[in-house]
Amino acid sequence: MRKFLRVFQIETGECMIQDILPKKLKNEYERRRPRKEDFIVGFCDGCILIKEGNTIEFLTYDGFSSYYKSREEETPECLYLFSVDAAGYFLSDVSALRKMPGVVFCPMFEIRAKKPKECVFAAATAWHLFRWYRENRYCGCCGTKMMPGVGARKMDCPLCGNEVFPRIAPAVIVAVTDKDKILMTKYAGREYKRYALIAGFTEIGETAEETVAREVMEEVGLEVRNITYYKSQPWGFDGNLLLGYFCEADSNAKMRMDETELSVAEWVLGSEIEDDTEGLSLTREMMTVFRDRLRVRTDH
Ligand SMILES: [Zn+2]
Repeated sequence: MRKFLRVFQIETGECMIQDILPKKLKNEYERRRPRKEDFIVGFCDGCILIKEGNTIEFLTYDGFSSYYKSREEETPECLYLFSVDAAGYFLSDVSALRKMPGVVFCPMFEIRAKKPKECVFAAATAWHLFRWYRENRYCGCCGTKMMPGVGARKMDCPLCGNEVFPRIAPAVIVAVTDKDKILMTKYAGREYKRYALIAGFTEIGETAEETVAREVMEEVGLEVRNITYYKSQPWGFDGNLLLGYFCEADSNAKMRMDETELSVAEWVLGSEIEDDTEGLSLTREMMTVFRDRLRVRTDH
């Protein structure tokens, strides 16, 4: 029984950016006006508008509209994005708020280290939507200004009828294992310097499992077997849906590292994996799940 409970706890991890229970993201498309207590999100040069302070707190619509009223200016239009529980999140142009007292523009790459987690998730999701709206202001077929769609989240071209739906790029995260070892990598030329797992985008015309086999072959030159799906994760920072897979390879086989992609690729003992203190990424959860599965096996 103890073993069963422990395995159950491990496999339900709840350690990623989207794991915000008991709160819940509601992303059904709606067109509605903001209420006073709803939140305004907005971006400027890769930074998000938040209130001054150590944690993430968004500006309310009340604060946003009061600022414009005090200056006798019209409040910019606000577009409904989603809700977290009862609180609605609206996207607006906040570029004129640089001098507003009590708010700051925080770089998006710093947001993930902040608390609370539901606000990190809301910021990443809003960023994904913001970039999609910004990139689809004009029709890619005829160049006409696009209009927000009715009844579904899309942009419509009033002239040629082109419809553009939100863009999400599927990508795989791959934990390559061999008995008690896992293949860890570091990416070349990136700011993120911690250990990662092999990862890559799904190409047009392939399954996610084929992406797994291709990416491992391209990045380290290894054949893999027993490709098994683990979990997925929305990763709005880069506009992805990440699909996590475990698979097996021979750790004695010769590795051929792609040095344009990776700076490090090495087999690491699962027992050496540190705790996931961030509690955001699928990559970290998969590493700790691998370690904890080994522990369960050696305990009994
Ligand atoms: Zn058009």
